[in-house]
Amino acid sequence: MTTNTAALSNIGALDAAHHLHPFTHMDKLNEGGTRIIQRGEGSLIFDNQGKKYLDAFAGLWCVNVGYGRKSIADAVYQQMNELPYYNTFFSSTTTPTTLLAQKVTAHAGAKMNHVFFTNSGSEATDTWFRMARVYWAAKGMPSKKQVIARRNGYHGSTVAGASLGGMKYMHEHGALPIEGIHHIGQPYWYVEGGDLTPAEFGLKVAQELEAKIEELGEDNVAAFVAEPIQGAGGVIVPPESYWPEIAKICKARNILLVADEVICGFGRTGSWFGHQHFGFEPDLAPIAKGLSSGYLPIGGVLVSDHVADVIRSVEFAHGYTYSGHPVCAAAAIENIRIIEEEKLVERVRDDVGPYLAKALASLLDHDMVGDVQSVGLMAGIQMAADKKTRQRFAKPDEVGTWVRNHCWSNGLIMRATGDRMLASPPLIITHEEIDFLVGTLRNALDAAWKELR
Ligand SMILES: *Cc1c(COP(=O)(O)O)cnc(C)c1O
Repeated sequence: MTTNTAALSNIGALDAAHHLHPFTHMDKLNEGGTRIIQRGEGSLIFDNQGKKYLDAFAGLWCVNVGYGRKSIADAVYQQMNELPYYNTFFSSTTTPTTLLAQKVTAHAGAKMNHVFFTNSGSEATDTWFRMARVYWAAKGMPSKKQVIARRNGYHGSTVAGASLGGMKYMHEHGALPIEGIHHIGQPYWYVEGGDLTPAEFGLKVAQELEAKIEELGEDNVAAFVAEPIQGAGGVIVPPESYWPEIAKICKARNILLVADEVICGFGRTGSWFGHQHFGFEPDLAPIAKGLSSGYLPIGGVLVSDHVADVIRSVEFAHGYTYSGHPVCAAAAIENIRIIEEEKLVERVRDDVGPYLAKALASLLDHDMVGDVQSVGLMAGIQMAADKKTRQRFAKPDEVGTWVRNHCWSNGLIMRATGDRMLASPPLIITHEEIDFLVGTLRNALDAAWKELR
């Protein structure tokens, strides 16, 4: 709806001239040119050429209620007119901010009744990272400062986020990780499990946490963080043995357990939060993405009562100008209201989640598909050069990129991490759209199998 039509016809050139994109090699992008997304409706997006795509990635794991929700736009407009901004620093709050705090904690566990607001998942990471250290210091244990995370985890792109994340290529930019952060292995059985069963392997990688705590000294460790299901790392669903063992170790060793719910939260797994799906109770849980379905930027950290009780007893010197921004809060409230009213969490658990799992299982007969993992509407499809031996392709990244590009050319947005194809569609996706997703992916795999061998 821009009025500057001269600029509109020229957006590609302007973008190449002025805009540095995230996680992008700009010279390579500008060779091919950027895609300009114009409009969205339901699970579909349209580019400025009118080409239609099924967005099986919900933007960037976030558009849980789908595109084109007028009621969110209306809530935002109304709040914008009434009070576009006020801060929550100086003994103040705004009504949407406080109502959102109540609404979001109502869906967390019985022992998790507080939230600290941020503008993004990365800021949520920085927030709990500082909060965990303040918590132990306030309890008279200031030496508990070290934080343990996982290789191939993702917790955002700020200095603390990229440090806690286990992405090597991110560490290489800016001499990360910062001091006090340690990484253990990930529960990625298909590639790292060797001859162990998934259950044995799940236990083994969980016990790496115990060994790391032992190495650092329990009195020096503040927290362990992990995504209930690794998202950016490739939708890696841990074996069932994994989370109970992790939770047990954190409790026994007096370590805060942080569940990064930025992707898993707000219905994606068929529960409100990923830790509920796996049946464990974290002490802290960063949230973002599905909190507002991406309509406006907002994130936060859910804080369990025993941590909140300690944090409330000190002045926690942390916060953002836009912590609890009233307009973003209004968008999030309406987003959660939609999830509740349309029973989208139940829909994922009982209807579209199982439907997607069944449709994806049909790909297991494909020569190139080694494994399929999905929980709710979060799926990872593992490709392999030889599925009998779990042998990977020589260049996993190239295979993923090739299949992804084929999907995009055929109107399906998926993402690839290495040799895994990832899906994370809006929670409103229909059965027909899931059929299109799996059919288009199969065609892409067929083409790749011919091309790449
Ligand atoms: C996206 C993501 C983040 C970072 O959120 P931003 O809003 O991009 O800062 C953190 N943790 C997980 C698990 C994520 O997927």
